[in-house]
Amino acid sequence: MGSIRSAGEAVARIAYLSSDVLISIQPSLASESEFSSSFQSLAANKASSVVAKGAPEIIPVRHNTDPLLSVYRPIRSGKLTTVTTSSDVLIRSIPHLYKLAQYPVVLHVALHPAGAPDYSVITSIRQCGFTFLQSETLQEAQDLALSAHALAIKSGKGVIHFFDASALDKDDPIAFEPKDFVRQVLDLDAARAFQNTTTEEQGIYADDGRVASVAVAASQAPLTNGVNGEKAGLLTPVTPSTEKAASGPGSARDSSVGSSRRDSSSENGVSGSSVTSVESVVTRPITSDDILRYLTTIWSTIKRVVNREYKAFSYTGPPNAQSALFIFGVDTAMIGKELDRAGSTDQYANVGLISARLYRPWMGGALTAILPRSVKKVAVLEQVRRKTTKWGPLLLDMLMSLKAAGNAGPQIVGYQLGYIDSSTVQQALRGIFQNLLSDSPIQNLQIGLAEWPQPQDEDFQLRQPALENAYMKILNQVFGSRLHIANQLRSNDAGISAEISSSPEFGFGALVARTERRTKFVNEILEISKSSSFTTEVPKQWLSKWALAQDDAKKANELAEDVLARLATDGSPAASQLLENKSLFFKESPWLIGSDAWAYDLGNSGVHHVLASGANVNMLIIDSQPHSDRAAADAARRKKDIGLYAMNFGNAYVASVAVYSSYTQVLQAMIEAEQFEGPSVVLAYLPYDKENDSPITVLQETKKAVDLGYWPLYRWNPRGEEQGEENFHLDSERIKKELQDFLKRDNYMSQLMKRHPEFSANLSGSWGTEVRELQKRKAKDAYGQLLEGLAGAPLTILFASDNGNAESLAKRLGNRGKARGLKTMVMSMDDYPLEDISNEENIVMITSTAGQGEFPQNGRSFWEAVKNSTDIDLATVNFAVFALGDKHYWPRKEDKIYYNKPGKDLHTRCLALGGKALTDVGLGDDQDPDTYHTGYNEWEPKLWQALGVDNVEGLPEEPPPLTNEDIKAASNYLRGTIVEGLNDTSTGAISASDSQLTKFHGTYMQDDRDLRDERKAQGLEPAYGFMIRCRLPGGVATPSQWIQMDAISTNMGNETMKLTTRQTFQFHGVIKGKLKPAMQAINRALMTTIAACGDINRNVMCSSLPTHSKYHKEVHAVAKRISDHLLPQTTAYHEIWLTDDTKGEKTQVAGDAVVDHEPLYGPTYLPRKFKITLAIPPHNDTDVYAHDVGLIAIEKDGKLEGFNVLAGGGMGVTHNMKKTYPQTGRMFGYVPADVAHLACEKIMLVQRDNGDRKNRKHARLKYTIDDMGVEVFKGKVEELLGFKFEEPRPFKFDSNIDTFGWQKDENGLNHFTFFIENGRIEDTEDFQMKTGLREIAKVHKGEFRLTGNQHLILSNVADEDMPPIKDLMKKYKLDNTNFSGLRLSSSACVAFPTCGLAMAESERYLPELITKLEGTIEEAGLRQDSIVMRMTGCPNGCARPWLAEVAFVGKAYGAYNMYLGGGYHGQRMNKLYRASIKEDEILDLMKPMIKRYAKERDDGEKFGDWCIRSGLIVETTDGKNFHENTAEEESDEEA
Ligand code: SF4
Repeated sequence: MGSIRSAGEAVARIAYLSSDVLISIQPSLASESEFSSSFQSLAANKASSVVAKGAPEIIPVRHNTDPLLSVYRPIRSGKLTTVTTSSDVLIRSIPHLYKLAQYPVVLHVALHPAGAPDYSVITSIRQCGFTFLQSETLQEAQDLALSAHALAIKSGKGVIHFFDASALDKDDPIAFEPKDFVRQVLDLDAARAFQNTTTEEQGIYADDGRVASVAVAASQAPLTNGVNGEKAGLLTPVTPSTEKAASGPGSARDSSVGSSRRDSSSENGVSGSSVTSVESVVTRPITSDDILRYLTTIWSTIKRVVNREYKAFSYTGPPNAQSALFIFGVDTAMIGKELDRAGSTDQYANVGLISARLYRPWMGGALTAILPRSVKKVAVLEQVRRKTTKWGPLLLDMLMSLKAAGNAGPQIVGYQLGYIDSSTVQQALRGIFQNLLSDSPIQNLQIGLAEWPQPQDEDFQLRQPALENAYMKILNQVFGSRLHIANQLRSNDAGISAEISSSPEFGFGALVARTERRTKFVNEILEISKSSSFTTEVPKQWLSKWALAQDDAKKANELAEDVLARLATDGSPAASQLLENKSLFFKESPWLIGSDAWAYDLGNSGVHHVLASGANVNMLIIDSQPHSDRAAADAARRKKDIGLYAMNFGNAYVASVAVYSSYTQVLQAMIEAEQFEGPSVVLAYLPYDKENDSPITVLQETKKAVDLGYWPLYRWNPRGEEQGEENFHLDSERIKKELQDFLKRDNYMSQLMKRHPEFSANLSGSWGTEVRELQKRKAKDAYGQLLEGLAGAPLTILFASDNGNAESLAKRLGNRGKARGLKTMVMSMDDYPLEDISNEENIVMITSTAGQGEFPQNGRSFWEAVKNSTDIDLATVNFAVFALGDKHYWPRKEDKIYYNKPGKDLHTRCLALGGKALTDVGLGDDQDPDTYHTGYNEWEPKLWQALGVDNVEGLPEEPPPLTNEDIKAASNYLRGTIVEGLNDTSTGAISASDSQLTKFHGTYMQDDRDLRDERKAQGLEPAYGFMIRCRLPGGVATPSQWIQMDAISTNMGNETMKLTTRQTFQFHGVIKGKLKPAMQAINRALMTTIAACGDINRNVMCSSLPTHSKYHKEVHAVAKRISDHLLPQTTAYHEIWLTDDTKGEKTQVAGDAVVDHEPLYGPTYLPRKFKITLAIPPHNDTDVYAHDVGLIAIEKDGKLEGFNVLAGGGMGVTHNMKKTYPQTGRMFGYVPADVAHLACEKIMLVQRDNGDRKNRKHARLKYTIDDMGVEVFKGKVEELLGFKFEEPRPFKFDSNIDTFGWQKDENGLNHFTFFIENGRIEDTEDFQMKTGLREIAKVHKGEFRLTGNQHLILSNVADEDMPPIKDLMKKYKLDNTNFSGLRLSSSACVAFPTCGLAMAESERYLPELITKLEGTIEEAGLRQDSIVMRMTGCPNGCARPWLAEVAFVGKAYGAYNMYLGGGYHGQRMNKLYRASIKEDEILDLMKPMIKRYAKERDDGEKFGDWCIRSGLIVETTDGKNFHENTAEEESDEEA
């Protein structure tokens, strides 16, 4: 059996076993309390509680957020609730304590500050109605913790168990007691009775009148009760029948006092049988005697079971002692030791030691009972740190108790106990006894040090969590040296605690004083500038100028420098005097910084104070509570909406911001707040659970809260209208109900809706409205009505589908059922009201498989309910299940169970619920020849047969399923119904077929996947947004284009832009309403998006080559020519996007096509996407082998001569579908430069006519060439060209990565390659990259080149233009290229949250993974070595992972396939090394591998080459053997 070493651990374990709910009050979310880590390990071990079903619920609460608020909800719903806390929170919580005393809540209190605890906290709250137990040894901490729970359950009243944890921790370890011990001590029947009660829902602040009471025989109840007898109804007789009824669930509702009806113990004199057969029963409040009696019973049980004895007071010492010490507030063990050590000559030899275990109620009788009669004198040592009365309460208690015992009682002498430690204890005892034993002892003598040491209670020191630095950095960035934080933590306010100096009241006071000081200073200056105190007249003129502008921060601060300079040179005494107050010349930006603790009552008064003052003070209040926590755990906690509160005040500027949602809006709000004359409140959101939360978690939480309107982004200026502006600016889309009500009341809502009708649907569907259930019912009823009057058996078809396959099967099945005369109804599982399922006649469920064998999104809630419900009865229901999955998706044997798991589970569960299976579960497998259709085609006839409708005649012909080819053909040259879709404001989406067509226009519809689940739960459609990709041949842009792109991303997208792996700009999160304006803005920047995506030739890439600008220019011109040459000719793009809506006119960007005709493409364009790239040896920075056509530039005498042509490279793969593979381009031969565009065209045409248009997974050029053979394909191209490819010319690549930093070209111009991690251009609080690049673009005269590795080159900077550019680069930290070689060579695709195909994180995660590897890289001495590492969120391969030396390709959320052995300069593909591994496995594999590589590599040997030489992986020589000889064998058998 293990042992327990600390009081925190001992108490936490007992609390865990004895509670339904544990409120763990912690110093902060980042640091633990004495108890919290023990809770975590108990929870991690899945320990179960004795009283709760399973494990208790643990709710961590910060100590400064009015923590006891969290007790009301659980305790009032019949949950045995325990609080673990330090003593710091108690005094502030007194109002709660009075109310909670009447509930069986237990507070375990570790006295603080640790090392010198303040007992006066306990003294101060002793009359709050709780029972107080005190532990003085580690063993007692455990046993009295248990006693506290047993007593609370038995008495129905609150118990506070307190102890000096740091003193107890010095005790020897104690043994664990078995769980059974706890079971024996707790009255489990009484616990159940309480758990079956609920108290009527009351506001937290209303007293619900509850009085803990006990049922007794009427004859034993007093006629009136001393304390509570006057309360009506307390003595209501309880008849045997009502007593019985009251013991059932919800019985407390029937009780006039809301108490739990605990069983009266036999000591009451009312046994259960006597109550039911003889007398009527009444209830009366619990008395002190009841408490002592219960406790005595509890302690006798403890004695019986473990032979440890406890009494209300403990007495140790000789039975014949003449004198005794009663101590409260010092380590008893220390005093006891000293008494034991006393020699016979010491005055304190032979004395007894008394202390209270039961401190309140004070049981004087029990004290006299333990005190030997021989004791004549008692010294009462009471720690009273904050003395308010002359006599300490303990002394008075003692006097009362012993006086009650008669005059013969001992003499009582009180002492004020100061600080004593082991070095002073002897001296203190001497002093005590000298006085005590004197003839006339002095009362209230001070013992020990009056000044207590101030131990550093580090954990409970107020600290600003590191994560919150985000906002501090922005404040610093905006206001720089002008920033003054009045309540700054750790400021030098001597003698003032951090708690006080950081409070709004203190800060405000400080600010007022500061303002007054400056006003006085200004007056002095006004005076002095009229005098003749200066040596010259100059200072006077400057001072008057300054005095006039002193209120205008900008002007005053500019003038201040001048004034100071003049004063410094004046040399007069007056000037020197003014110079002593230099800082007052500058106008500060005054701020108070606080947390959401200010939103609770305890802190709110300070905020009120500032608002009410009307003073010009800015408050930044950071709220770090994740909204899901708030919504789920503790909805009843009353936290004021400070924003609304301040807006209601009417005189304050208010903004609600979130740095991880809109950085720009934070800046804007801070600037406006500062400019506002009067109080300003900026509420800043930063949700986190722990300080070390990953940024992805913080980001996701923020987005959810903003999107759902829990944390709306807005700015409110009460004087906006006076200045001709709106008062209210909504910067996000949804707002919560309360804010909406405020705006409505003030008539702003209607104005807002008028101005922004597009918001109205969202605004009225506010956060917090439970619409989901209603929607389900409505949809089903509507279906029901539709089906009315139809004959035939009903057939309900439910689907769960992520990518649409299961849904379209379900719909088709529905149509076919209808054709067979069945009344079919089709809906998603989660849209189905489950309460109807038992009434169904026939139900069919079709589900695909997501993640690790999970249900797709729209079937998860359904499955959870079906799986967990005990009431569903399918006895009269026929059912069938069809499942879609991929057998090869699970390469590891142990994961085979995931294959079609949802469908199989559903089938089994329906059988278990009594359903009758119409067929066996149908299994569709993507590996079958006709994918899942193979299995489906076998299954469906069986279903019709089982339903008796298999032989129906005259079934209508079914239209074939719509394919991409059909959509293209029917689109009228890419028009479709895009315009109609854009005009439909009822949805943020466009139709499925239009979303195929918009790709050709350079935009994809996506939805924010971070928000999918949350929006689904709210009954909302996904957060649709569009990705827009520009066409930018060779990645070259002008500075003015850069600035315009920057503005588009800020105003119309998600404030960031992505430099893609194909050298262009990409915007994300553009909502439908802003799509057209964004396209037009791109057009105004003389750029386009046409054919940036879709089955067409896309952006043409070109090496960026900063060192040879002339040569680059020549090659780039070819890239541009190819791009233009292969542009589609349709005018649809211009009509749809560039028509001026007001004039109805077309604006055109390129050419003026009159008739739609696609000479190169025809009406169905290409079978699949088509990508062309140009590379200039020795730089393969565009990955020339990875594209449909790769042109390798060949030079002669520094000039472009022609190209070696590669064809048939391509990256996209489907996991475990071996028919798909990546491929590198095959060499066709050399062509001169002037016909390169024709070679590209002809290759594209052969592909157009020969590519597979039936199977999109087999449609890329790589498969066409492999199927036809290189020579046959090449022959067809040469036929069209009319000439043959020449023999390829020699060339040599040496890398595919970028060279960072400054380089000079042959013209003497300078180029700087920035490291842009994964191509994401954004501002963060640490790094204003986007702002910096914008500032540089404003002065830059050359060009920007985007690289194929997602980095950026500032090109063509003349020497004379370097200094200002270098300054800006330095200012914005853009000159930093000092990163590890691994990081510099890494690349990741976008993936979550926007890419619809992503299976795992990529861009947001790769930097974190690299950070975790960098330590090993450093250790191995590889910091400077580049290892090409790439990551993508799915096997589509946008970051070209198959050519990396090491790659990770997303398989499921958090799981990746790992590949090794790619060629360093992109010439060779890698191969699967491990499948579906998670971060810990990745690190376990990578770290030793990196170390081995460092040791074993040959000179200059690259990582990918070493992986092959060392035998880790077999070389991939061709795409066709990519799946062969993988390091991890895939096996096909099913588990
Ligand atoms: S590789 Fe996959 S996840 Fe990444 S951006 Fe491309 S399609 Fe999306």
